[in-house]
Amino acid sequence: MSNFKHKKELGQHFLKDKNIAAKIAGLGEIKKGEDVWEIGPGNGILTREILAYNAKLTGFEIDKALWERLESEFGEKLELVKKDVLHVDWERRLGAGKVKIIANIPYQITSPLLMKMIGVREHLSKIVIMIQKEVAERMRAEPGTKEYSFLSIKAQFYFKVKYEFSVKPHVFIPPPNVQSAVISLIPRDDVYELEDSDYFWRLVDSTLRSRRKTLRNNLKYIISKEQIAALEEHTEINLTRRAETFSIPEFIDLYEKVRRET
Ligand code: SAM
Repeated sequence: MSNFKHKKELGQHFLKDKNIAAKIAGLGEIKKGEDVWEIGPGNGILTREILAYNAKLTGFEIDKALWERLESEFGEKLELVKKDVLHVDWERRLGAGKVKIIANIPYQITSPLLMKMIGVREHLSKIVIMIQKEVAERMRAEPGTKEYSFLSIKAQFYFKVKYEFSVKPHVFIPPPNVQSAVISLIPRDDVYELEDSDYFWRLVDSTLRSRRKTLRNNLKYIISKEQIAALEEHTEINLTRRAETFSIPEFIDLYEKVRRET
């Protein structure tokens, strides 16, 4: 790999510490023969550790400069999908059994990847990923903290989020400009069934738009003044609170009441 030129636009920060790769794979709790997906095997440092558990591994790698090396080292043990993981039809690839996703992902595709994972969550049993530390902190944040945001609610609505450990830039080649962290996500089996999920997420987004403003002020982005007055009159919701202090059950309660009053 000495003459390999890392591509910044592909988020190519390769782990150089085998112990960290082993720790990530270990968090996957992989059983022999289990289906695992790795997004961006790169030079294979994590791939090796995942395969040590005899996983049935599929790797999605976009960079053709890495394919030959991966194929010659892993051969049949790795099903290499030579594509942009965001352009793969995940639904079609997923079978009846559950899959684990274990990866040091390219940070620039964290949000679209999370959306894809949410879309197929019923096919996933565990996700262990390295992401930007700041994003990991937002994903696991509690109501009322400065990190609590749309992303916290989105991630925690669908998954049990666990912050596993922090990772310093110097364990990568080249070192990224940001700190990193490994998180694990386990799909919830008690996800609240939203009749109109688009509306729920628009409501969450609107009420968090101006963080320092009260719920009453932010609700103006999504419902009329008359509807806000009706909400005040007919429900117990405290409109002087800020949405950033609302837990997920409180957002659900707000959504149900707003829908009833509007
Ligand atoms: N797994 C290796 C490691 O831990 O050192 C490499 C991780 S590196 C952060 C991210 C990898 O994802 C790179 O190999 C990069 O080429 C690949 N990649 C970037 N964007 C991708 C995409 N959209 N689809 C598939 N692979 C992608």
